Amino acid sequence: MHIEGRTNVTSQRFGSGSIDGLGRELGRFVVATMELPWNLVRERLGALPEAVVCVESLESDVVERQLAAMPPCDTVLAVGGGQAVDLGKYLAWRRGCRLVTVPTVISVDAFVTPKAALRRNHIVEYVGDSSPDPLVIDYDLLRTAPAELNIAGAGDVLSCHTATFDWELAQRAGRSTYPFSAADVAAGRRLVQDMDDQADEIRRVTDAGLQAIVDAYLRINTICLPADHYRVEEGSEHFVFYELEQRLGRGFIHGHIVGLGIYLMSRLQENDHERIVDLMHRLDLRFQPADMEIPRAALAESLLNVRAFTERHHHWYSVIQEREITPAWIEDALAGLRFTC
Ligand SMILES: [Zn+2]
Repeated sequence: MHIEGRTNVTSQRFGSGSIDGLGRELGRFVVATMELPWNLVRERLGALPEAVVCVESLESDVVERQLAAMPPCDTVLAVGGGQAVDLGKYLAWRRGCRLVTVPTVISVDAFVTPKAALRRNHIVEYVGDSSPDPLVIDYDLLRTAPAELNIAGAGDVLSCHTATFDWELAQRAGRSTYPFSAADVAAGRRLVQDMDDQADEIRRVTDAGLQAIVDAYLRINTICLPADHYRVEEGSEHFVFYELEQRLGRGFIHGHIVGLGIYLMSRLQENDHERIVDLMHRLDLRFQPADMEIPRAALAESLLNVRAFTERHHHWYSVIQEREITPAWIEDALAGLRFTC
């Protein structure tokens, strides 16, 4: 599909076998990766890198040390999931050299966003401005990752369902942080419809299904980069799990926990709850608390506390401010979910 608008991706190369011989086009190159993805591609590149930099941690002092030890190069080749891609983006940006990005899983959108998510004292900081040239999407390579991780990529697109609803609520309440755009809301909803149209392909992780997720990420950029905010794809469904992550002191596969947030908040919004849950089932998205070992009691406490949490963290206005989450509501909402603890 041809994507109109600004996407931050300078050029693209899509198709199985896209990585074969890629190394011969890069001049002197350094690879940013992890052990597992590197072993998948090293024999196929057709050339040897000057150095291989593996993710140790994305803490900025660790990354700065790796940058200082890196030999001169023309290209940084980022190979792997979100962390390897973030490391590659940052190294290329700091060196001012070409970036080539080869995701080996599409569970998160790091490979199409300009900034790298580094950490300073465990707090995420978004830094830099990078653009892959090209972005290489090799379907066979992506299918070496567990299917549920690629499917998780669709989960973060579905967040447009609840996030656009929240933006409309905020606008009506006179509480929108950003100038409201009905066109952006409509574009966000079309992305959810695309995931619906391609649900069978995505669940089976076919070429068309993988490409649908990549295209959706690119199109989110065409909405969000010019607007300079992510309001169409981030709302109450994200805020509710930020509370849960802090409470449990651990993170989750992003698209899976977003799916749980969509389940809960579409219900609170009374926003086509059955339809979006049916779509998550058809995608085989792992959004159940049982899939993520989330205890029932912790989720219930999270929901009771989420309004205070969003106010303390100055999150955008959403259904969480508008409708009270009562113990009775929680009881009903959790009755439809699966738990193992
Ligand atoms: Zn997200």
